[in-house]
Amino acid sequence: MGEDESLLALAGELTVEQKAALCLGSDFWHTAPVEAVGVEPIMVSDGPHGLRKQPRRANDAGLRDSVPATCFPTASALGSSWDPGLARAVGAALGAEARAQDIAVVLGPGINIKRSPLCGRNFEYLSEDPHLAGRLAAAMVEGLQSQQVGASVKHFAANNQETDRMRVSADIDERTLREIYLPAFEHVVTTAQPWTVMCSYNKVNGEYASQNRWLLTDVLRGEWGFDGLVMSDWGAVHDRVAALAAGLDLEMPPNLGVSDRAIVEAIAGGHLDMALLDQAAARVLRLVERARRREPAAMPGDAHHALARRVAADCMVLLKNDGGVLPLTDSPDLTVAAIGEFARTPRFQGMGSSQVNPTRVDVPLDELTAALPEATIRFAPGFGLSDDSADADLAAEALRTAVGADVIVAFLGLPAADESEGLDRRHIDLPAAQTHLVARLADAVPDTPIVVALFNGSAIRTSTWDHAASAVLECWLSGQATGGALADVLTGAVNPSGRLAETIPLRLQDCPSFLNFPGEQGHVRYGERVFVGYRGFDAADLPVAYPFGHGLSYTTFEYRDLQVRQAGSADTDDLVVTVTCTVANTGTRRGREVVQLYVADPVSSVARPPRELKAFTKLDLVPGAQQQLTFTLTARDLSYWSVVHRRWVLEPGEFQVAVGGSSRDIRCLRTLGIEAELPPQPLTDMSTLEEWLADPVGGPALRDAIGLDPDGRPAGILGRSELMRIIANVPLSALAAFQGLGITPELIERLTHTGR
Ligand code: BGC
Repeated sequence: MGEDESLLALAGELTVEQKAALCLGSDFWHTAPVEAVGVEPIMVSDGPHGLRKQPRRANDAGLRDSVPATCFPTASALGSSWDPGLARAVGAALGAEARAQDIAVVLGPGINIKRSPLCGRNFEYLSEDPHLAGRLAAAMVEGLQSQQVGASVKHFAANNQETDRMRVSADIDERTLREIYLPAFEHVVTTAQPWTVMCSYNKVNGEYASQNRWLLTDVLRGEWGFDGLVMSDWGAVHDRVAALAAGLDLEMPPNLGVSDRAIVEAIAGGHLDMALLDQAAARVLRLVERARRREPAAMPGDAHHALARRVAADCMVLLKNDGGVLPLTDSPDLTVAAIGEFARTPRFQGMGSSQVNPTRVDVPLDELTAALPEATIRFAPGFGLSDDSADADLAAEALRTAVGADVIVAFLGLPAADESEGLDRRHIDLPAAQTHLVARLADAVPDTPIVVALFNGSAIRTSTWDHAASAVLECWLSGQATGGALADVLTGAVNPSGRLAETIPLRLQDCPSFLNFPGEQGHVRYGERVFVGYRGFDAADLPVAYPFGHGLSYTTFEYRDLQVRQAGSADTDDLVVTVTCTVANTGTRRGREVVQLYVADPVSSVARPPRELKAFTKLDLVPGAQQQLTFTLTARDLSYWSVVHRRWVLEPGEFQVAVGGSSRDIRCLRTLGIEAELPPQPLTDMSTLEEWLADPVGGPALRDAIGLDPDGRPAGILGRSELMRIIANVPLSALAAFQGLGITPELIERLTHTGR
């Protein structure tokens, strides 16, 4: 008997009450024990960028006093690394800490798509692009699970806002779900086999995710082959029996006395199939079993802080660097004015369930001072962190500090309260006190370059002030070692290689989701459809502040020799498109480049984005070195989700394959001719005349049925080309009402019954 069967058999031997208990936690963080058969409880903890193990109170969300753990860069930063290797390393380190703390499952990664920069939890999510989010998350899950600690990929699905998150219905058309909101989950589930998936709070098209059978069973298990456990988000279950029937195995935290009783009564009343309960209980037993096999581990030491620093440095995105003001070179002649409270009070994570109690925190000012031992570093806070209004004394002090300096490094960012689980932002601006300070500094010392370092977990508006800055470094919320990492990048010890995982718009109003976020009266309509993030900006050809994929380096890269070859065929399901290109470091420093591959289908029967990321890789090149890269694409990478056929469809025709350094920095482009047979359109009486005639089988059948007139010319409508133009888009059934067109109800009946 296989493991699954024996666990199912064990579950079958338990009483209904024991099984029901297993399908609920026993407290906020533990599964239920079944002492009679020696099943121990296991503990789960947040997630996603560090461990938040609550030490004492088992029935408390407890946001602050968790066991100290390394606070790694949040997903806002990790997403910008475009480096699955780093994500894997972070996952493994997090797994090691979890294992040392006897944690069975870490509640992460969070891989919801950043639909709007306003989402209060964007700092916990990786990207606006499903390909990038899926690749990074899969690597993180692999790393975590390499330590025999399970991942919980969350929040499945379409939890893209905090406003009304417990009730709102995310109303999303099928194609958009398939192309944007599901693929990252699909990739993680099919390639990294996470131990668990966490359902989201919200409804998806009117049904709570926790009770959504289509989502939790048909798609997740049926289509993707998920064999792990589905747990609820904390408090996401409203009807335990319906949730169980839909495929939700474990309710967290448990609604004790209510949910277990409901399950027992449903079984007794014949409203719930015992086999479903057995299955869910067996999945909990399997999770417990997986955790039990884990070998003990020691708490890792400083190495994790060093890893956090290395990762954070590779996540920072150099948005702008006019005149090569960065990196800073240490010298007794250099005076740096460090302005901004964030220099001594760093912001490095967001608020809510992901909040880690860090083992230590690097102070940026101290780290910069240590990295520039010969230079003079002066500091002024410039503004306070508690409110938005400028403090005249602090601003005046900052101006005095800046006078005579060779360079100003301004540490700007969002107040902590702006970025939190549970609420969305209402605008994307920095506090006015900070933007005014930049303007005043630029006025007061116009010849002194200003370098801005930003600390925020989701896109902010830069367009109102960045003209005053020579350089802008987006640090995101980069974890406890942000300070050291920032010093590394500012001084060139690390050449920046982060790239934007989300577009920075000129204005919030330009964002594709703007008019449909966060919805109203219990519904949020994903009206921008597949045109999320750069897909929408690029389709509308809107200017942006900094495009998706953008990020500068202290060196330069050249792309050449893009070649595209295809083998196999879409019709035999073995199409492989091999893309090669060469990238060279043409500058004077070693550096890392993120080579991005986008595809487009410019002529399509459905609206498609002008660029879609389908592959990427990160290269490390010394000056003068070059490397040839090979990417492979499959039919799926070129296809769209057809709501008619309810599957991926590849249309024949010319596709574009483009490589470059951002969605707007395409360096080489080739066209690719794809031959593929279109799946037949299901033709019905409601299909239009045009659709019938275009069909390779339906067209001739219709022509035959209408026949010829006595002169041997096409009869009825087929002989009247002018009229045909006008009524080509009318369904056959409507045309049957018009005399003289040769289309009768009997003819339609015959055609549709003979299947054309
Ligand atoms: C969050 C989850 C988290 C859980 C446990 C919920 O409110 O949405 O992401 O894992 O709490 O803290």
